[in-house]
Amino acid sequence: MTDVLELLLTTPALYMGLALLFGLLVGSFLNVVIYRLPIMMQRNWRKECLSFLQLPEEPETEPFNLMFPLSRCRDCGTPIKPYQNIPVISYVVLRGCCASCRSPIALRYPLVELITGLSFMLVASRLGATPQTLWALLLTGSLIALTFYRY
Ligand SMILES: [Zn+2]
Repeated sequence: MTDVLELLLTTPALYMGLALLFGLLVGSFLNVVIYRLPIMMQRNWRKECLSFLQLPEEPETEPFNLMFPLSRCRDCGTPIKPYQNIPVISYVVLRGCCASCRSPIALRYPLVELITGLSFMLVASRLGATPQTLWALLLTGSLIALTFYRY
């Protein structure tokens, strides 16, 4: 572990590249959070309201959380394959369209990934390889998610 940290401290390009890569991956996850969390909260509030009002519960639907169902096209419902889900690169390769039905994919997705990647790189360069950097990255990711929050 000390060797890895020392390598990161002595190789700035590697450190910055890893920060960018980590940020792109986190940005991809933030897209899921930004889209799904409001829906999850709304479903939960609805369930609580029905319970409070002593109304009959609605029938259970398929699980909907940050992990399930797997990502799919919003227009045709085709599951997105892992190689079609690479941050920014897949958007460019697919030319911003679904691989199956060619419907456009919102520019917001690669934008969130890119902003997160660049922000993580900036934060990491400012703070260096310290424990504080992890907390600053957590704050940065949270702020980006709140910025793009849709409801
Ligand atoms: Zn599609």
